[in-house]
Amino acid sequence: MLDLAALKELLASPQKIVITTHHKPDGDAMGSSLGLYNYLIQQGHHATVVAPTDYPDFLSWMPGNDGVIIYTEQPEKAATLIANAALIFCLDFNALGRINEMGALVGESKAYKIMIDHHLEPEDFDDYRHWNINACATAQLIYDFIVNELHHQELVNKDVATCLYTGIMTDSASFRLPNTTSTVHRIVADLIDAGAVNWRIHELVYNSASESRLRFLGHCLANCLEVLPEYNTAIISVNKEDLEKYDVDTGDTEGIVNYALSMASIKLAAFIVERKDKVKLSLRSKGEFPANEICKKYFGGGGHRNAAGGFSTDSLEQVVQQFKTLLPEYKKLLKQ
Ligand code: 5GP
Ligand code: MN
Repeated sequence: MLDLAALKELLASPQKIVITTHHKPDGDAMGSSLGLYNYLIQQGHHATVVAPTDYPDFLSWMPGNDGVIIYTEQPEKAATLIANAALIFCLDFNALGRINEMGALVGESKAYKIMIDHHLEPEDFDDYRHWNINACATAQLIYDFIVNELHHQELVNKDVATCLYTGIMTDSASFRLPNTTSTVHRIVADLIDAGAVNWRIHELVYNSASESRLRFLGHCLANCLEVLPEYNTAIISVNKEDLEKYDVDTGDTEGIVNYALSMASIKLAAFIVERKDKVKLSLRSKGEFPANEICKKYFGGGGHRNAAGGFSTDSLEQVVQQFKTLLPEYKKLLKQ
């Protein structure tokens, strides 16, 4: 284990550092990783962000993005970086299974592991932990780590601020979720003061769709949406043929589940999509409904109360059916 004093001592001289995050990184995963990266390089550290898989174009513009190593594309280089690192920062995940095959490499590495995360029930693989499930984003915790634990507010420069703003914006659903507290807004104000151009970041993330993505969204809403009024639940299910037909890229499906949740009466929304080797579920809920409980109990996944995910190796039809079959168990909560 490391305490804060020992960690500060380590960070006082240049170190070989790997920063990693969960597979299929989202805005918080990449924003946190590159935010921390842009902080560390100012102190002369040899830091590299190693992502387990690729991520969407609408996240590929952040400062430092060009240096990111993607494990699935450069596995040997990633393995060497992990094996030689003195410190590995594990951001926005807390179980080694979330980084696929990289989990074994990180687990075996002699490096000190620092977990910064806001998910429930962390596994015990780390040496230092900055963890708070009430944080709206891991990027909020990175800010807190830099400013309140390491006392380096002055190193929150424009690049750091831009990345952390992106993480907070995306994980709080544009500052809309219940955990977007006044503290979060104060942090966001600091990030804008430090140089994050808020309107430009919104443009880059949310107004950068391709025509095919928009047509795919239209298809999902017109042809793939099923509303179950008895359970205040809506499901959008999409098969592989449609993904091919609409030329759906990594990230093109992100956020579609929120359209299903935007209906007034809907408490639970599911986006169920047939990927190459498995069926992936994305659940979103309103208020107290525990979407993560369903993902954990039935679909080998987890997440937050209002945003969770999981997967299954059954067919798309079977997964949709299984999802519908479990709704009666939650009827009381869904009808509240
Ligand atoms: P998404 O629906 O965007 O894929 O995931 C929403 C949230 O659910 C993520 O931020 C992550 O916290 C969680 N999540 C998604 N997939 C999984 C999974 O397979 N396992 C676990 N433990 N959490 C997941
Ligand atoms: Mn997050």
